[in-house]
Formats: sequence, C-alpha cells, structure tokens
Amino acid sequence: MSSQLKRIAVLTTGGDCPGLNAAIRAVVRTAIHHGLEVTGVLHGYDGLIAGDFISLKNENVSNILQRGGTILKTARSDKFKSEDGMNQAAEQLKMQNIDALVVIGGDGSFRGAQKFSDAHGISVMGIPKTIDNDIYGTDNSIGFDTAVNTVVQAVDKIRDTAASHDRLFFVEVMGRDSGMIAMMSGIAVGAEAILIPETETRIEQLVKILERGWKRKKTSMIVLVAEGDEAGGAYKIAGEVKKRFSQFETRVSVLGHMQRGGSPTCADRVLASRLGVAAVEGLLEGRRNEMAGLIDNKVIFTSLKEVTTRKKTMDNTLVRIASVLSQ
Ligand code: ATP
Repeated sequence: MSSQLKRIAVLTTGGDCPGLNAAIRAVVRTAIHHGLEVTGVLHGYDGLIAGDFISLKNENVSNILQRGGTILKTARSDKFKSEDGMNQAAEQLKMQNIDALVVIGGDGSFRGAQKFSDAHGISVMGIPKTIDNDIYGTDNSIGFDTAVNTVVQAVDKIRDTAASHDRLFFVEVMGRDSGMIAMMSGIAVGAEAILIPETETRIEQLVKILERGWKRKKTSMIVLVAEGDEAGGAYKIAGEVKKRFSQFETRVSVLGHMQRGGSPTCADRVLASRLGVAAVEGLLEGRRNEMAGLIDNKVIFTSLKEVTTRKKTMDNTLVRIASVLSQ
C-alpha cells in the first residue's frame, strides 16, 4: 500500500464499553505493520485539545486485548464543541505532524469528528463503539455483544430467585434512545415483556400479558425495561403495574454500569480487531471521513455524514419474535 500517511493518532471518546482496548491494539499493530507511527491521545477530545499525547508501539498494546475499559481513557468534552476548542485541537495535531485521526466513538463523537474535519481539513476515520448498538452503518458496534451477554448472565440469576419466590421482576437495562440491549437480551432470557423506546408502552396491555402468565401458572415473570422507555424507568412502570396486578410480589432491579464493564466477548474482540485493521488500511487506501463498519459480515465504509444523519431502526421481526415466544 503506498500512501502519503506517516503518522496517525488514535483516541477513544464518549461512553466506555468493552472492546475498546482490542480496537486500540488493532489500530496500533496495523499501523506499525504498514510502517506508520502512532500517537495515542488520552482522555478523548479533551486530550486532543490539551495535547495529552503518548507514543504507541507494539509493546504498549500487549496484553490489553482481553481487558475492559480503555488504556487511553475516554471523556465527554464540552470544549471540543466550541470553535476555540477545535482550533486548539487542530493546532496540537499540526505540531505533532499527525496526518490522520482514528476516532473510536459513537454517533456524537462522529458528529464532532465530521465538523472538525470540515473546519480544519483533518482526515478522520471512525470505528463504531457503543453498548447501545444504535450507530448507522454497522450491524453491531463494539461493546454491544459483551453488554447483552452481561445482561443475560444477570437476568438468568434474577430468574432463579424470581422462580423460587414466585415473583415478578422489572429489570432496567441501558438504552436511553435505543431498545437494542433490552430487545436482544430479552429474547435471550425469555422475558415476558420487553419495553423499549421504539414501541409504545401501554400499561393495560402489559397487565394483560402478566395476567395471561399468571393464569398459565408461570412461577416467575421478567419484564425488561430499556431506561429510555417513554412510560418511564423500571421503578415507575412497576409502580403503575402494581396498582392493577397484585397476584405476584414485585421487585425492581436496575443493572446500571456493570453493563459497560468486563472482559469483551469473542465476538467483540473479533469485531474490534477487524474494524481496527480496516480503519487503518482504509486510511492508507485514501479513504477520509468515513466509518468502518461490518454489514452482513463484510467490512463496509460509510461516510461520517451518512452515519450521523441516518438512524438505525429496530428490526420489527425481533419485536414480533419476542412477543410470540413470551407466551
Ligand atoms: P456514546 O453514546 O456511546 O457515549 P457518543 O460518541 O455518541 O458515544 P457523545 O457524548 O454524544 O458520545 O459525544 C462524545 C463527544 O463528542 C462529546 O463530548 C463532544 O466532545 C463530541 N461531540 C458530540 N457532538 C458534537 C458536536 N455536534 N460538535 C462537536 N463535538 C461533538
């Protein structure tokens, strides 16, 4: 591969998730394989503004593939949203002779990256990560598979205790705008109902489903609630249901930040590795301001503009499957 590129920088930005280290490792090793130098930017866009840089060699990314979190740290940066902040970030990259920036982030991070590139002509390549799996241009984002497996393990345990006591559990999972975690893990644990922001939640309808389960002599029931469901969080919905359905004792469990941590699954490690390689080789081929994603098991590059303006939608067949199987 012949290219004008000599030095690239890589950063992680936005919320953390499992698989970030695997992606960093893949970026660094691919770049070095092709004779590039790699600079790591600490603390996301804040570090870019502050010039918080480290040199990354193969040995710096040894033994991190299996670790959760990010060795580069991550942050949300208000400063980067300002013209001043972007000017300073561009100046820092110029001083370090950095030719391109690999952004391992979510759609917000890509919106920032696109603006940054438009304003300063910096070449950017995106790698999609978020446990919510709501990024357009890839079937899965890094972190999603590990997060749903964490939820499945937790809810399986909750099911044991729920069945022992004949209880109804409302389990709240992450997903402010997206019900992907709730939907996939809900199907995997056999949830009686899955409440997500993409579909209307009607308490009366939910009560009917629970009554049907009670008549069927179910010994436990699980309702998975995405935190962004328009009817409210798990506590609010449980309170509403309790007023109308008292056959089962009710409990609420909010899984919270455990969904962001832990060792990445095999699927996330392989996804991060494939996208890390693709991102660097895409830059070497002359691609700019795109995101490397995986669609139908093939690497596909999508412009950051498209990624940030189009919305990934919930697959309605999943909604139907969950409903059919929950009886
Ligand atoms: P996740 O949703 O998984 O946390 P994300 O990348 O969507 O990931 P955001 O908090 O939306 O997370 O964005 C991360 C950072 O990207 C912001 O803190 C900000 O620095 C930058 N950013 C987001 N939107 C813009 C924008 N419109 N202009 C400039 N920078 C932006």
